[in-house]
Amino acid sequence: MSFEKLGIFKPLLDAINDLGYKEPTLVQTRAIPLVLGKKDVFATAQTGTGKTAAFALPILQKMRKHVESKGVRAIILSPTRELSIQIYEDITAYSKYMDIKTTILVGGKDLQKQREALKKGTEIVIATPGRLLEHIENGLSLKDVEVFVLDEADRMLDMGFTKDIRKIHPLLPKRHQTLLFSATFSDKVRKLSKLILTKPAFIETAKKNTTVDTINQVAYLVDTVRKAELLAYLIGSRNFPQVLVFTRTKVSADALSEELKKDGLKCGVIHGDRTKANRLKTLNQFKEGKIRVLVATDIASRGLDIEELPYVINYELPSIPEDYVHRVGRTGRAGREGEAISLIDIYEKYDIKDIEKLIGQKIPQETVEGFEPDPNIRRKDVDEVKLKAEHKKPDNKKVRQYNKNTTGMVSKKKRKTTKRDAK
Ligand code: AMP
Repeated sequence: MSFEKLGIFKPLLDAINDLGYKEPTLVQTRAIPLVLGKKDVFATAQTGTGKTAAFALPILQKMRKHVESKGVRAIILSPTRELSIQIYEDITAYSKYMDIKTTILVGGKDLQKQREALKKGTEIVIATPGRLLEHIENGLSLKDVEVFVLDEADRMLDMGFTKDIRKIHPLLPKRHQTLLFSATFSDKVRKLSKLILTKPAFIETAKKNTTVDTINQVAYLVDTVRKAELLAYLIGSRNFPQVLVFTRTKVSADALSEELKKDGLKCGVIHGDRTKANRLKTLNQFKEGKIRVLVATDIASRGLDIEELPYVINYELPSIPEDYVHRVGRTGRAGREGEAISLIDIYEKYDIKDIEKLIGQKIPQETVEGFEPDPNIRRKDVDEVKLKAEHKKPDNKKVRQYNKNTTGMVSKKKRKTTKRDAK
């Protein structure tokens, strides 16, 4: 199959040729004719499958050229600022031989400047739901919208944007086309699809919640207190050029970054408490290769599109199993090989079962020589170390004891104390 056979016109063919796309991916092959044919589409496609071009190319083709008298003709909603920027960059690259105006409306940027850009006239708007509503309240009209896209709909719903979407949807004209893209096929997404889609065509490019085939997955069993040490060892001994590392919380992202810096690794952190400017700066430094290790929380995991990222490490497993799919989707993109390594302690050994159930695959569990976990550690001991890390219920005495002992053994006498304390 070729883009030409799918009906893509010359200005877009030239642009994708410049980008080196040889042939359409599966989701592109299926979605492009449907979108051009004005059908509503419900697609389950993960990040890395080429889903952005699957909706962006036919939308650009439908717009054809800038018409001054018309208002906004396509709205693309995405859950995060980073993903919106990624979509904006992709659309800008695809439309380089076209006269089309695209505007990005995300939080953190000057509202007034965005208003001025809208006033000049724009065909395509890429926005996060909250910021789009702000502009609507300030007079942005949706009366000319022909195509409405929800990208990473599952994530949007998980992030609490349901109400915003329900407010935006009735403001669209009666006749419009809706495209819903989601990595997972959750009940929430299904419910939303019933509300906003009309006789949709379904596209399922991967089995429900499976991870991309080109990713090698492995889990290394290790004691909680030795995770940072093992991570630094893996990066050094296996000579990882660049690695994206996920933590469960902002606190552990910061703490891990400090640890890695002590090991001489150039490290950056992206999480919700960092200013947006700071997050973008760090991401760019990573893209430019100035940073070797990028530590991120799940909120920042969506929308990061880093070319040929070979390794993703789960320093801690995510609290929501679906986030595992999103995290490892950062590697093995568009047919390239990737490796996803999870560092799991005794506690996460159980959490990983939920992930395996979701993805329908077994993740092999191995140990690294010299980092084998102590067989006598109990889940309760690990919980206490984690609580301390999250500043929730510190029990310094027990934590100190656990940390001091590199093997993590708790003596019989102390174990009794622990039990009594718990009562
Ligand atoms: P996405 O799933 O939209 O995040 O795309 C993942 C990556 O694949 C991006 O870096 C795209 O530029 C790239 N990509 C999209 N379509 C193709 C294609 N047909 N051939 C090669 N690379 C592609």
